[in-house]
Amino acid sequence: MEKRETNGESMNLRNAAVYFFDLDGCVYHQDQPAPGAGELFQLLRQDRKRIGVITNNSRQTAAEIERKLLRMDLHIAADEIFTATDLTGAYLMERYGRQTVAVIGSESLTLSIRQCGHEVADWETAGRADAVVIGRDTDFSFDKLQRIVDLESAGARVIAANPDAFHPGGQGRKIPETGALTAAVETILGQAVNYVGKPGAYMYEYGMRKYGVRPQQCVMVGDNLLTDIAGGAQAGMRTVWIRGAGMNQRIAAEEEGRTGPMPDLAVDQLADLLEAYRGTRI
Ligand SMILES: [Mg+2]
Repeated sequence: MEKRETNGESMNLRNAAVYFFDLDGCVYHQDQPAPGAGELFQLLRQDRKRIGVITNNSRQTAAEIERKLLRMDLHIAADEIFTATDLTGAYLMERYGRQTVAVIGSESLTLSIRQCGHEVADWETAGRADAVVIGRDTDFSFDKLQRIVDLESAGARVIAANPDAFHPGGQGRKIPETGALTAAVETILGQAVNYVGKPGAYMYEYGMRKYGVRPQQCVMVGDNLLTDIAGGAQAGMRTVWIRGAGMNQRIAAEEEGRTGPMPDLAVDQLADLLEAYRGTRI
């Protein structure tokens, strides 16, 4: 375990009021809980720390993720889970008011946008829309790409749920993410598309607003330097980087080689953070 110093101040794990966690590669690996995750949550709750999840997942709602965590015996309630799926509708509402939205993504993303008060347009037939939202659409196609570009030409703003190009599968496999689909749109439009998820400020600010805390009271824990850590630091939080193992370790090493964000604390896995945290309780 390697400890880093930021601004001459060492990381104080004990005085944070809120711990926000990323999920995949941090709290769990695909369907397996990270060793020590349950115990860490238990200790944090015993110490009256608040726990939250900030995830770029754009297919599943907080309720769906709560159930997934429960199957791993990890207890985080839906109202403690902030997902790109749930927050894309809120982002649109806060910035632009009620919108007619064409959704390229999962049923859950569509439903959550409707529940936020927007009108969902049928993307196949709509001649125009106020906004096109792109999530991780596993049925993405040439036809959908054409529709997005046509709707944009007719005046729709294009918003992506998250910017990730891929997320980790097993054995170093890369699973295509929203950002890969959005890249095709950006190439055609010749400009970058706004997105809701990490490393953007919106989800961090939303979580802090919900918990009524300031960034100085928060720690962001995640395995992705360019999203979790960069975004957390940008939001003013302290950050803990879970370096990961295997392929993730290699990707991590590549990322570390770049001039990127520096976490306040870097550990190999979540169990090391548990140990470090336990050390502060003695
Ligand atoms: Mg992750």
